[in-house]
Amino acid sequence: MQWGVYIHIPFCRQKCFYCDFPSYAGKEKLMEVYTEALCQQIEIQGLSFRQKWGKPATIYMGGGTPTALPPQYMAQVLQAVNDYIGQEIAEFTVECNPGTVDAAYLQLLRAEGVNRLSFGVQSFQDELLRRIGRIHSGEEAVQAVKMARQAGFSNISVDLMYGLPGQILADLQASVQQAEELSVEHISIYGLQVEECTAFARMEEMGKLNLPSEEQAEVMYDYMTTALPELGYRRYEVSNFAKEGFESRHNRSYWHDVPYLGLGAAAHSYLAGKRYAATADIAEYIAGIKAGRDVRALEEEPTREHAMEEFAFLALRTAEGLSRQAFADKFHVELDSVYGEVMAKLSEQGLLLVDKAGCRLSKQGFKYGNVAFAEFILD
Ligand code: SF4
Repeated sequence: MQWGVYIHIPFCRQKCFYCDFPSYAGKEKLMEVYTEALCQQIEIQGLSFRQKWGKPATIYMGGGTPTALPPQYMAQVLQAVNDYIGQEIAEFTVECNPGTVDAAYLQLLRAEGVNRLSFGVQSFQDELLRRIGRIHSGEEAVQAVKMARQAGFSNISVDLMYGLPGQILADLQASVQQAEELSVEHISIYGLQVEECTAFARMEEMGKLNLPSEEQAEVMYDYMTTALPELGYRRYEVSNFAKEGFESRHNRSYWHDVPYLGLGAAAHSYLAGKRYAATADIAEYIAGIKAGRDVRALEEEPTREHAMEEFAFLALRTAEGLSRQAFADKFHVELDSVYGEVMAKLSEQGLLLVDKAGCRLSKQGFKYGNVAFAEFILD
């Protein structure tokens, strides 16, 4: 049985100005008890799923900032993973903030079975990093990747952002060049979105956020989506580019309807067609685990229509697109009988490429994905 594990570490040294993820700064005092609770959950749930389904194909530890955990706590979590979920996992990724790792930390990760790192770099320009509230410098990011290589990592991803306050195309070009010089295997790109309840949302309200214009952001997007493939990074998903063979297996499983177990506060799970989310309140999570209570705050069983929409959205994010066969296997109905008209309309508009195997977004379709996705919503 193919399945994956997501482990959430909800701590950060400092909250980035754009971030609305379930992550908290200034909660260091909870790290020890959180680690204990997480290890307990890994032992009970991780082991039970392993006994049922065998060893998972992928594990992804995200956050938050997993590497904000002091090394002794990280070692405990990795030990629990090795003991109860499995060793030599085909792809075991840990998200890293370049400002929180040193050579010894990276060696610990590698020695305990982690074989892929995802660095939240965002930019290699110090001024931009400062403006978005990151805790590291461009040089620290460069050194972190180099130290990871020395620690034995041969599968490294970096995140880069565009549309940042005061960012110009030349900044982005310099960041892409730097990532290429480091020969990273994978690059994820994100356009800045101003989310509610973030420092940037407050700055925007006060008229203090100097964002690039829509046209400038579009030029940056066009540059990234053209330059990265030219440099050998194939676009295999809306936001993700990889050298051949280095596509993230864990992310692919999200897009291909593979079940996954979430462990930790705020972690999401997808099991037997249902979606679950654990409470994002760290103290509530810890108390719940210690008392043997169910820590799930949300349980959703999508309607058949919602399940079809979600299946379509997730598949359309990928370069392979939406497969007729996979859709029919899952829903026992032909793709055309549900989405035939939509596919014809979007194909006419140049946003969708339709063939015998199914349909996928065109280059324009990727760019205006929201327009295309909206059409796949069933009444
Ligand atoms: S390090 Fe990541 S999770 Fe933490 S505040 Fe910044 S963007 Fe959010």
